[in-house]
Amino acid sequence: MEYEAVIGLETHVQLKTRSKMWCGCANAFGAPPNTNVCPVCLGMPGVLPVANDEALCLTVLTGLLLHCEIPRFAKFDRKNYFYPDMPKNYQVTQYDCPSTRTGYLDFEFGGGMARVRITRAHLEEDVGKSFHFERHSGLDFNRAGVPLLEIVSEPDLTNSDMAYEYLNALKDVLLQGGISDCDMEKGMVRCDVNVSVRPKGATELGSKIEIKNMNSFSGVRRALEYEIPRQIAVVSKGGKLVQSTRRWDDVAGITEEMRTKEHAHDYRYFPEPDLMPFEPSDAWLAEVQSRVVELPLARKQRLMRDYQLPATDAEVFQSDVELGNYFENVARQVKNPKAVANWIINNLRAKLAESRTGFQPVSDQESAEETRTSATSPSLSTLKFPPQSLVELVGLVENKTISNSAAQQVFAEMFDTGKSPAAIVQEKGLAQVSDTGAIEKICDEVIAANPGPASDFKAGKVAALNFLKGQVMKLSKGKANPGVAGEILERKLKA
Ligand SMILES: [Zn+2]
Repeated sequence: MEYEAVIGLETHVQLKTRSKMWCGCANAFGAPPNTNVCPVCLGMPGVLPVANDEALCLTVLTGLLLHCEIPRFAKFDRKNYFYPDMPKNYQVTQYDCPSTRTGYLDFEFGGGMARVRITRAHLEEDVGKSFHFERHSGLDFNRAGVPLLEIVSEPDLTNSDMAYEYLNALKDVLLQGGISDCDMEKGMVRCDVNVSVRPKGATELGSKIEIKNMNSFSGVRRALEYEIPRQIAVVSKGGKLVQSTRRWDDVAGITEEMRTKEHAHDYRYFPEPDLMPFEPSDAWLAEVQSRVVELPLARKQRLMRDYQLPATDAEVFQSDVELGNYFENVARQVKNPKAVANWIINNLRAKLAESRTGFQPVSDQESAEETRTSATSPSLSTLKFPPQSLVELVGLVENKTISNSAAQQVFAEMFDTGKSPAAIVQEKGLAQVSDTGAIEKICDEVIAANPGPASDFKAGKVAALNFLKGQVMKLSKGKANPGVAGEILERKLKA
């Protein structure tokens, strides 16, 4: 019998806010332990939480980006459980009335498109961190109360690669929307994986096994690559799986059982009495709506459609939004957007990278730090030439005023000095020579100097003409119109 896997993911994402969810403490990674804490996030008795408006905004914005419904009534609930890194002994979350529900995420998978339905994206708070030393343990509450978004998918995923691609697509959306920095190294994204198997084509779901607290997408993929065959092996031998929670041991490459359904938590959810329900106004929702950005996939598809770009070019402008905006600004003004894409992708990017590494410091710690920052900082804004110059350059090649090789020189000069292409062409005498008299003279010289290739061409070796044409271009310092040169050479050799 053939089996299939059914996978759903719960993805926890730290929101990109300045302060925590219920207090004014900084939401900052890497501070010394217990320096970003106050009575509220330490769970002292008698304190009152105040909801972070930006966190609510980012939650609803995520809902809009994932095509979710935004209910006009949402509320917060207490999820009760004991854990040393959570001194309140409860976590505030959204249980039965979340801020967003029933959406979807489309992404590219297996050469086509895939859609995973989103059950809900709800707002909650992160807990502190435990550290275990040789003879004692330590607790750091800097993370306690950091706003956390839980994005729950429907069980629409069917294999490990698909889960991996879904997570990456979700991350792209969250990054593009400014929802989270999604820094995996800093634990900003964590995943719980729900996976079961069933006979292929069956409608009933198998026993759900949850793999908790995965902190890398590749870990999720590896855990599923282990867990799915494990489950199939059990049921195909007539064994029975019970609903349970497992953990992934990344070093050993296996999942291990932590607890079964009988030992599942009863969280005794009840409405949070210290917080008002959240009922967004029209004006508030309009404000969030104005922050909706174009999704990465939609952007790629639009660039391919509107500018006839190949997928590889569109992907460059999809991942580098600033560069993409720059491209569109120039491409709108020309007949051949592909030429603009070539200049930006092949020349401009290389030049920018070159100028960034140009002032590599030797040993100074501080300036090394500066270089690292500037390597990621935008540098399109500091370009010496205006976008209009690129429009002009493309036009000069298009109307054959300059050859492609001359255009390379013009671009380099324009990048370094900011001078206009027309001025550079004039100054350096780069205008293409279409004057047949001048080219004819050069062709005669080239044929005389290269009797071998010339007779090769006469004997029928067509490729020899390219060599001779190259010589004409060289002799004319790239100024001869290559089309005219080719015609003249051919005519002379055939004569
Ligand atoms: Zn605090």
